Amino acid sequence: MTMKLSPKVAEILRKSQDFEELDQEEIVFLLRLDLCSAETYAVMHAANALSRATFGTKGERHLHIGLNVEPCRFDCLFCSLTRTAGIFTEAVEFSIEQVLEWARNGQSKGADGMNIMTTGFYPFEKLLDMGRLLRREVRVPLVANTRDISHKEGEALLEAGFVGCYHAIRLGEGRDTPFSPEKRRQTIQVFKDVGLLWMNCIEPVGPEHSHEEIAGLMLLARRMGATYSGVMRRINFPGSPMEQHGMITEREMARMVAVSRLVMGNVPRAHCTHEPHTASLMAGANLFFPEVGSSPRDLQADSAKGRGSDLDACAAILREMNLDPLLPSNCFTAAPHAFSDKPAGCGGQVAE
Ligand code: SF4
Repeated sequence: MTMKLSPKVAEILRKSQDFEELDQEEIVFLLRLDLCSAETYAVMHAANALSRATFGTKGERHLHIGLNVEPCRFDCLFCSLTRTAGIFTEAVEFSIEQVLEWARNGQSKGADGMNIMTTGFYPFEKLLDMGRLLRREVRVPLVANTRDISHKEGEALLEAGFVGCYHAIRLGEGRDTPFSPEKRRQTIQVFKDVGLLWMNCIEPVGPEHSHEEIAGLMLLARRMGATYSGVMRRINFPGSPMEQHGMITEREMARMVAVSRLVMGNVPRAHCTHEPHTASLMAGANLFFPEVGSSPRDLQADSAKGRGSDLDACAAILREMNLDPLLPSNCFTAAPHAFSDKPAGCGGQVAE
C-alpha cells in the first residue's frame, strides 16, 4: 500500500525537515488533521525522526519536586491546589529532610534535572535557600518553577544554584488565571537576559482551547528559544471547574506533541510530554517528569502517593520505546551530546 500525502502536508514536512519556521496557518492546519489520517501519522513520523536526529536515543527524566501545598488564593481554574477547589485547606511545607531524601534518591536513580516547584504565595527567599542547600547536596541541575520574577530575582536564582526556570504562558492565561500573559512573557525575557535556561510546555491543554491559541504559544516557544517545549494535557481533578470541558486523550496529545516538535525545529534540547505515556514517544517526545511532593493535578499532598510516576516507572516506559534514560542529558550542556545532522531513523537508532 502506498500513502500519498496532500501537497500541503508534504510541503510543511519539507520545511520542518529544513528547520524552517512554520507559520500560524500551517500549524493550525496540522493541529486539525484527522487523527486517523495518513497525514497525521506522517507528521508523527517526521517529528520522531527530527527528535532522533537531534536528541539521539536519549530519554530524559526531570524530577518534579513540589515543595509545598497551600489553598492558593490565586485560584487558577485548572489547579487542585486552590482555595476554591477545597482539597487542601491547610498549608503544608515538606521538611528539608524530606526534600533532601527525594533529591538524593533522584540523583541515585539518574534524574537528568530537578524542577523545584512552589505554589503562588511561597516565599521567594525560601526557594533561594532550598537552591543553595540542594546545590551543595546533589549534582543534578536545578530548575525553578515559581512566580513571575524581576531581573534581580533572576540573578538571585542563578547565584543560589538554579540553572534554569520552568515558566509557561498557560492556555487561558488571564482568563482561567489572574495572571497577565504579557507579564509572564516579560519573565521569560528576564531568564534570557540574566542567563537562565527557559523550560516550557504547551499546557494545560483541554478540548476547549482553540488551535489558534495553541499555535501562538508554540511559535512563542520557538522564537524565545525554549530549552524544551512539548505538550501537557490538563488533568481534571474531581470537582474541577474545568470538568465540563472534558480532557484530551493521550493519542490527541501525541498529535499535538508531533506538531509542536516540528514547530520547534533545531531550537530545543529535548521535547517533553506529561503525564508519562508511550504514544507521544512515537511522535517526537523524549522527556518525562517523574513527580514527588505537591502537584497541581493531584488530590494527594505528595504526588508520589497519588498520580505521580516515579523515576523507575518513567525509565521503564522510555526503554520500552527504545530510548535510553541513562545517556547524558542534552539539556544542560553547551552542545547536545547526541546531535547528528543526518536524517534520522524512526526507532531506537539514528540512521547511518
Ligand atoms: S497554578 Fe500556582 S498560582 Fe495558580 S492556583 Fe495553582 S499554585 Fe496558585
